[in-house]
Amino acid sequence: MSVNIIKKERNAIINPLKTCQPLGAMYAVTGIRRAVPLVHGSQGCSTFVRYSLSRHFREPSEIAVTSLHEDAAVFGGRRNLVEGLQNVAIRLKPDLIGVITTCSSEIIGDDIIGFIRSAKDELKQKIGEAETEKIKIVPISTPSFVETHLKGYDNAIKALADHVAEPSEPNGKINIIPGMVNPGDVREIKHILRLMDVDGIILTDISDPFDSPLRPSTAEYKPYYPKGGTNVEEIVDSANSSGTISLTKYAGSGAVSLEKKYKVPAELGPIPIGVQNTDQFLRNLKKLTGNDVTDEILDERGLLIDSMADFASRYLHGRTVAIYGDPEITSGMARFVGELGMEPKLVLTGSNSQDFVKDVEKVAAETGAEIDTMVGQDLRAMEVYLKDNPVDLMIGNSDARLMAKEYGIPLVRVGFPVYDRVGYHRRPIVGYKGGIHLIDLITNTVLEKYYEHEHWKLQQ
Ligand code: SF4
Repeated sequence: MSVNIIKKERNAIINPLKTCQPLGAMYAVTGIRRAVPLVHGSQGCSTFVRYSLSRHFREPSEIAVTSLHEDAAVFGGRRNLVEGLQNVAIRLKPDLIGVITTCSSEIIGDDIIGFIRSAKDELKQKIGEAETEKIKIVPISTPSFVETHLKGYDNAIKALADHVAEPSEPNGKINIIPGMVNPGDVREIKHILRLMDVDGIILTDISDPFDSPLRPSTAEYKPYYPKGGTNVEEIVDSANSSGTISLTKYAGSGAVSLEKKYKVPAELGPIPIGVQNTDQFLRNLKKLTGNDVTDEILDERGLLIDSMADFASRYLHGRTVAIYGDPEITSGMARFVGELGMEPKLVLTGSNSQDFVKDVEKVAAETGAEIDTMVGQDLRAMEVYLKDNPVDLMIGNSDARLMAKEYGIPLVRVGFPVYDRVGYHRRPIVGYKGGIHLIDLITNTVLEKYYEHEHWKLQQ
């Protein structure tokens, strides 16, 4: 029952386990109805993100870019941003534009707030004051030479809390910051809120924008899915809620900001993966609303426990696992595999987070496991580790698929990005129903590798 921190052996990163800050911000803005992410940087900063998001969600994503070139590095990107904002405002008529900075615009020190003011002044001349004021323009700082995509997501949600939320009358609602999860997860959270009779504001709701119906070819082209996402009025109203639950403590700055500025109580984490964490989520909901956990939810919990009883001791107990990815999902999965009687032998995240170490220490204390832990490391470090310390199973994103194949270790795909399997983004891993889905995934993967045809024959 201990945590053994394995130190970094080199500074260079080989096969990174993280991507850049603007990706997280673009993900967050996409979850707002009629909103456009406007990347203030070079074209590649938006192109690679569009590619990454489309590869994972199998949906197109509409992201604008100010297209900085060499001259902007010398003279600044004012003209690009002012004209870019006007183009997006006039042509797309959005309710909100998230201005997302990049390495280059941060390094040259562009005055984003001043540029937005200039753009608004020019816009008022063109479309009038009333139309200009209808569009919220939110500056989101995402210097990608530090931290990860999760920090970019965190900065975006905080920017919404700081620039869009406005206090008025209490609304009795609960804000939920879901973290960088999938449409299936957000829908599961909304399902739990419905069963608990809780009105929620999802900050932000990517479920429909990243999993939307195909539009008929006769429909008028819209640059964003017209129905889904959190609308701007809800974000404004988030300052009046009874509480905020961030499903990830690693990206809870928006919740903290709403608490500091508007006295909206904040609960940070844990992500409701598995039994204990989902129990905690429900306790948080009950604490903030006073609503009791309903029989329907208890039934769902019972079904998860039943699946654990059916499969865990028979097929999963004692199996060793390497888990890698974003800190919240990785620590949540470590706790869940511990609940299943498996051994989380290695946990690894690309984020340099000491909170992650504390979370893993708790899991080690609860499960009695000895857990090797890597923080701020890359997939090459995992590969070196696995050569000497083979495990029965890997759980993480698609980026380690070739390693899994080479070492003959079955891989359960969880996290971001997952691009070599389809349908993953539609199914939840959170909540009791998500737990059942995970158990099926893990058990079927174990059955395929370790209970092959000959084995079944022997059993007959
Ligand atoms: S790391 Fe910097 S330069 Fe590269 S895509 Fe991200 S923001 Fe752009």
